[in-house]
Amino acid sequence: MNPKPVARAPVSELLSQLPSVDKLLLSEPASGWIAQYGRDELLRCIRFVLSAVRQKISSSDLLVAPTEQELLAQIDARLAVRARPNLRRVINLTGTVLHTNLGRAVMPDEVIEAMASAAAEPCALEYDLGEGKRGDRDELVEELLCELTGAEAATVVNNNAAAVFLLLNALSNRKETIVSRGELIEIGGAFRIPDIMKRAGARLVEVGTTNRTHPKDFVEAIGPKTALVMKVHTSNYVVQGFTAEVAEPELAKIAQAGNIPFVVDLGAGTLVDLTQFGLPKEPTPAETIANGADLVTFSCDKLLGGPQAGILVGRKDLIQRIKKNPLKRVLRVGKVTLAALESVLRMYRNPATLPQRVKVLQLLTRPAASMQAQADSLIPSLRDVFASCGLQVTAQPVKSQIGSGSLPVERLPSVALAIAALDRANEKKVVRLERLLRGSDTAVIGRISEKTLLLDLRCLTEDKVSVLRETMLAAAQGLGTTK
Ligand SMILES: *Cc1c(COP(=O)(O)O)cnc(C)c1O
Repeated sequence: MNPKPVARAPVSELLSQLPSVDKLLLSEPASGWIAQYGRDELLRCIRFVLSAVRQKISSSDLLVAPTEQELLAQIDARLAVRARPNLRRVINLTGTVLHTNLGRAVMPDEVIEAMASAAAEPCALEYDLGEGKRGDRDELVEELLCELTGAEAATVVNNNAAAVFLLLNALSNRKETIVSRGELIEIGGAFRIPDIMKRAGARLVEVGTTNRTHPKDFVEAIGPKTALVMKVHTSNYVVQGFTAEVAEPELAKIAQAGNIPFVVDLGAGTLVDLTQFGLPKEPTPAETIANGADLVTFSCDKLLGGPQAGILVGRKDLIQRIKKNPLKRVLRVGKVTLAALESVLRMYRNPATLPQRVKVLQLLTRPAASMQAQADSLIPSLRDVFASCGLQVTAQPVKSQIGSGSLPVERLPSVALAIAALDRANEKKVVRLERLLRGSDTAVIGRISEKTLLLDLRCLTEDKVSVLRETMLAAAQGLGTTK
């Protein structure tokens, strides 16, 4: 160890210069903090700040004692950070509209009102107001779902993974489910068809090959232990080239000939033909039911644009069996979800207005010119401040993604703010800027590509333009001037 002859004395002296907990508790801003956060919380923060400062002094990271004013500023910051919600709001400029890690679908105001009212007041969740007796929560949306899909019956669970799991457990426990090898999918975050099957007690019978599966593969696999023939929509990838799959109508016929239910996991579950809005084609539950499926499952927070939930629609007798399974109770949804789902499903009764009313569709159908206009209005107010940091801001054409495994190869033309270094000396600032934006109170999430920070404006709603501008200017300030 290096001898530090004068180190000890200053440390104890510096420590003794620090104000006491009681002194800070009696300081001028303390009464306001106590009113806002409570005395216990203030005490915790004072102790935390003092202890951190003592540690820094003891390890000689700090060579002068902070003033009382400086300590109070640190306490203020600590109180604010602890009061900040962990589930932070984010401006999603990733270019992925249905971003699973950023909460997937954003919901329309009408839907949010329905959720708020369900949360704030008692509601007839499982109560038949006509009869004055117990009802069934699924009935709140069953009729709408049947109307929109052409199915006989419907039930709702926590998400589509739960829908698939429940279906397999209710109908294929200790029995076989036949699936094409080309459809044994993994959806990000530990949803894998073979694993879900195993946990649900279903025996997976794989048929065909990765790229080609034929009708006879299914016909030959059907036996006395077969419970289901299943098709899984390969929503998050495509197989191209020398491929073959058995189309729904043919598979439905094969299953029917063996008296086996034919079930389809559709994934994204849009309820209307998206091509009418200029979007790529995605199969609908109605088409799948019309093709002969006995049961269809899909998500509510992907293209549907609603809350996190999973839907099962199809034959009444099968839905009955599913609803009798005790796992239905385990996987059921709450009133806030049902309020949102009912509200969003009602919008689908009037398809022509969907791009105006369903926020997800609004974002997906935004023309590139709309994002270009936002870029043109933002850039003049950012250009000089960023230039003084050694960065340039320009508008750049990019391609947005739908996300959540929907329509994986389709890209939507969009416009991004592109922030790049003016010269090599400032390249590291792009990375720092990305981090600063991410750490802001309203976190701004973009992506770095080829040393350029891209902020895809597709999901920037008008009410967030000025927040984005302020956040970007504050972040630039945090970067400091050109080096
Ligand atoms: C997204 C998806 C799931 C999982 O749905 P969650 O609502 O995320 O649980 C299952 N199957 C397919 C085909 C999907 O696309």
